[in-house]
Amino acid sequence: MSTAILTVDLNALVANWQVLAAMSRAETAAVVKADAYGLGAARVGRALARAGARTFFVAVAEEGASLRQALGPGPVIYVLSGHMAGDADMLSDMDLCPVLNSLDQMIRHLEALPGHPFALQLDTGMNRLGMEESEWSAVRDIAVAQGPQLIMSHLAASEIPGDEANRSQLALFREMTAGLDCPLSLANTGGVLLNRAYHFDVTRPGIGLYGGRPFADARPVATLDIPVIQCRDVAPGEAVGYNGTWIAKRPSRIATIGAGYADGIFRALSPRGAVWADDMRCPLAGRVSMDLIGVDVTDLPHDPKTLSLMGPDQGIDDVADAAGTIGYEILTALGARYTRRYTGG
Ligand SMILES: *Cc1c(COP(=O)(O)O)cnc(C)c1O
Repeated sequence: MSTAILTVDLNALVANWQVLAAMSRAETAAVVKADAYGLGAARVGRALARAGARTFFVAVAEEGASLRQALGPGPVIYVLSGHMAGDADMLSDMDLCPVLNSLDQMIRHLEALPGHPFALQLDTGMNRLGMEESEWSAVRDIAVAQGPQLIMSHLAASEIPGDEANRSQLALFREMTAGLDCPLSLANTGGVLLNRAYHFDVTRPGIGLYGGRPFADARPVATLDIPVIQCRDVAPGEAVGYNGTWIAKRPSRIATIGAGYADGIFRALSPRGAVWADDMRCPLAGRVSMDLIGVDVTDLPHDPKTLSLMGPDQGIDDVADAAGTIGYEILTALGARYTRRYTGG
């Protein structure tokens, strides 16, 4: 084994989807943008479709086209960036449903693909995508007359249950959709966990499927095992890695493993990060390099063959905490060089 191995547990993925689905009466979709948060949209999508998922969300039309090829006809695929210039053929050929974010997109869609399904996004306070109240009140009647397949909005702070933004977004979403006879959607993973008032007709979990916070009961989905290339003894006072930021305080054993920041293992992980040999924690020694990382394995009984960055003792959120970021970024940064293996499903 010369490259690190990323193992994706499709049974855990499906179990996470099922637990989130059991929390509400709404239909539970699956957000598989950014190649299913780095874990492989084709395999993830097929496993979830087999488990009963009928609706998927991607970020851009190109992602939707590859997902359609993986899933075949049937499942609904929403494109969150909406109908962008030049997308008409792909949306039509691959049977993708754009989530229209503005009046401009609505005009473009109705002109280019009259009669082709679409959804609408409303902005309820995040100020990122979607029509604001004023725009919406001007076009609402015309838009609704065209029969949108879904009307949705997105929560900005759903992972923090007490955040006032949740209640104000919910209230505004209700107000903007009052009296409409159309399926509605507001909740991402955090929204599913808030309470049923946020669920409406379709929920849109992403990170929870992949084992991340705020879904505390999620089963871990990703495991990352990195091969050890070389081990060496280092005397007290000797330095390891670029700029000698780690200096041995005792006679030490250093393992050099074959992955680095080019694989999405952030340099910021250096001072606090660790990898694991079975249930033994081994601190990183020195800076993360492009393709290599030094690890202090002095306390192990023997030289390891591989060390795990993600596994049973250290999940994506632990890695994120050590790097000062969020699990989403850890997953979506996962390197293209890894050998990806899929179990279960
Ligand atoms: C990414 C995304 C989601 C999924 O969010 P998670 O926090 O990963 O569950 C849902 N809806 C929209 C609009 C998104 O962009």
